[in-house]
Amino acid sequence: MTRGAGIPSLPVADPWFRVRPSRDGRILQIDEPHVDPLVAANVWIVRGRDRDLVVDTGLGVVPLPSVGPWLIERDPVVVVTHAHLDHAGGASAFPAVHAHASEDLAHPREASLHGGTELDLLGITDASIRADVGEWLLSAVPHHGFDVARYSVRAPRGVVEVEDGYTIDLGDRRLTVLHLPGHSPGSVALFDEHDGALFSGDVVYDDVLFDELDGADQAAYVRSLERLLSLDVRTVYPGHGDAFGADRLAEIVARHIASRRGASGG
Ligand SMILES: [Zn+2]
Repeated sequence: MTRGAGIPSLPVADPWFRVRPSRDGRILQIDEPHVDPLVAANVWIVRGRDRDLVVDTGLGVVPLPSVGPWLIERDPVVVVTHAHLDHAGGASAFPAVHAHASEDLAHPREASLHGGTELDLLGITDASIRADVGEWLLSAVPHHGFDVARYSVRAPRGVVEVEDGYTIDLGDRRLTVLHLPGHSPGSVALFDEHDGALFSGDVVYDDVLFDELDGADQAAYVRSLERLLSLDVRTVYPGHGDAFGADRLAEIVARHIASRRGASGG
């Protein structure tokens, strides 16, 4: 499947993660700058009075807890928004993660950091997307001896199944799980109705939304996006790219729904 002779020798990037705190220091945006944009997802950490919330876990090339105790300060509640490798890859580094039952994290799908192989596994056939993805999905490795060809996603040690309406209490803030299928069957987002913060995973981010992957459902996706517009969302903290506000959310949703109506039958 992978072309053994082509395994690259890559530079070492240490630290692996980029960590950007919000102005008040209560929300951290963490990403992996040395990975292909296809799988460059955010981890969000929300500092609560009693517990930290960790939204998604990165590729798992480096386990998040190994970064140091300064990153996750309090007993974390870890939520995996869906099972794609760039969100669930690091889940096995935690004793337990929260996820929707439809994502079946206990039986991870095969995953690869070889670009063409992973595109096949995700079911991405669009030639323009495929043309942009590199042969390997990493441009650096986290340490000498890291074997990019041996990457896999391991099952978490424990999964707490969550459904729509499940609440997560951090002591001084409460977030509600929203089940928003479409990108994947069990995609979830987390919503704080007091400040309008939405941690959206891959339900919405500021780019073309993927609704043709294996397990995607285009009609359900449109319903999920329409549901978001019915809520008082003020800031979206997405699975990919930077945070944005309500006006941009409305534009992204309108654009996506219009593109689906235009592609009727497709
Ligand atoms: Zn995804």
